[in-house]
Amino acid sequence: MESMFFQRRMTRRVMVGPVAIGGGEPVRLQSMTSTPTHDIEATAGQIRRLVEAGCELVRVAVPEPRDTAALPELIRQSPVPIVADVHFHYQRALEAVAAGVHKIRLNPGNIQDRKQIERVIHACRDAGIPIRIGVNEGSVVERREATARADELRWLMADRRGALIDLMVRKLEEYIRLFEANGFYDLVLAAKSHDAAVVIEAYRALGKRFDFPLHLGVTHAGPPETGRIRSVAALGTLLAEGIGDTIRISYAADPVEEVLDGKELLCSLGLRPRNEPELIACPTCGRIEVDLVDLVGRVRAKLAEIKAPLKVAVMGCAVNGPGECEGADVAIFAGRGKGMIYVRGERKRVVNEAEMLDALLEECRGLIAKSR
Ligand code: SF4
Repeated sequence: MESMFFQRRMTRRVMVGPVAIGGGEPVRLQSMTSTPTHDIEATAGQIRRLVEAGCELVRVAVPEPRDTAALPELIRQSPVPIVADVHFHYQRALEAVAAGVHKIRLNPGNIQDRKQIERVIHACRDAGIPIRIGVNEGSVVERREATARADELRWLMADRRGALIDLMVRKLEEYIRLFEANGFYDLVLAAKSHDAAVVIEAYRALGKRFDFPLHLGVTHAGPPETGRIRSVAALGTLLAEGIGDTIRISYAADPVEEVLDGKELLCSLGLRPRNEPELIACPTCGRIEVDLVDLVGRVRAKLAEIKAPLKVAVMGCAVNGPGECEGADVAIFAGRGKGMIYVRGERKRVVNEAEMLDALLEECRGLIAKSR
C-alpha cells in the first residue's frame, strides 16, 4: 500500500526470497532474533512469534559454525525469509549461503581482507541472493591501519556528527565500489547510529548519492522507554521524506515489541494497511468524570485479541468526544458515571460505568460479525 501523502524515493529492487525490497514496494518490517541461533526450538519459536506480530524478514546472528549448521532447519520452519547476520568471520557467510539463507548482512569493515569479502560476494552472486552492507557508528572507525585510525578519530573529535556522517557515507562508497567491481549490485545499504540526528542526516546523504534500497534503523537505542522515541524520531522523519525501504526498530527487549512498534509506525504513516483495531483515546484532563485511564488500558488489552481493522474511540467528555465518536467504528463517550456508545457514528445506547468495557466489546464483535 502506498502512502497517500509521501512520495517514496525510487530505488533498485532487490529480492529476498519471495519478498521484494525497494523499487516502490511497500516498506518491509524486519526484526532480529535474540535466542542463540543454534537453539533451533527457541529460535524457530521466536521467529514464529515475530511473524505473527507482523515481521516480514527475520535476521539471525551466526557467530559460530553450530549457528550456520542450524540454518537449514530454521529456513525450513520459517514462514518468512531468513537473513544471516555476519561479523568478523567470512566463513560464516559462506556457510550461510550454502545453507540456503535468503540474504546476508555484512559489515565489510570487520572482515579481515578484501579477498575474503570477494569470496562472499561471489558466493552470493552465484546463489542469487542479496547482501546488506551496513556500517555502524560503533565500528566505522578504522581499526587495522594506525595512521588512518588516528586521522578518523581526530575528525570525529572536531565535529562528531558531521565527521561521523561523512565517514559512514565514505566507507559505504568504498564498499559499494568493491561490490560493483565484482559485478554485484543486489545491495541494500544501512548506516546506523544511536543518535537519531546522525541517522536522519546519514540516510538523507545515502538517499541522494545511491539508488540502492535503504534499511533504516537506530542502533543501540536501549530499552523501549528510550529506544521508542529515538527510533520514531529518526525513522518517522525519514519515512515521511520517502526515504527507507525496510526498517527495524531495535530494543533491548523482546523483539516482538520491536515489530509491534515498527508496525504501528508504518500504519500511522499510512505505509502499511491496518489489519487490527486502532484505538483512539483522549489523553484525560480535569474534565474527566470516570476512571478513563483504567478503561483505556482494559479496552487496549481486549482489542489485542481482535484481528480486524476497527477504529475504536474512548473519549472522556463533550469537548472532542462526540466528534471522535462519530468518526470511529465503535466508540464510547463517557461522563458522570455513564457512557454513550456509538456505532458507525450513530448513538446506540447508554450504559453504566461498570458495563462500559463489555458493551464496547459487544458492539465491536457485532460489527465484525456483520461485515463478514
Ligand atoms: S476529551 Fe474531554 S476529558 Fe478527554 S482530554 Fe479532551 S477535554 Fe479532557
